[in-house]
Amino acid sequence: MRLSSRTQSIEIRECAGPECALLFVDTSRPGKRRWCSSTACGGKERAAAYRRRKRTEPDGGGPEA
Ligand SMILES: [Zn+2]
Repeated sequence: MRLSSRTQSIEIRECAGPECALLFVDTSRPGKRRWCSSTACGGKERAAAYRRRKRTEPDGGGPEA
């Protein structure tokens, strides 16, 4: 959703956190913000991505091999 104010347009975004449905106002220049809080939800997502990477690492045959 894009709203325009007098001087700038602001972006209302939904947090990308899987367990979070918060909306936040993205005032960052590139408009690339994804989380309501980069330390809370953003940090959680980075940790989850790290765990996903570890899990899918080739290790010579997973349980479905
Ligand atoms: Zn969030």
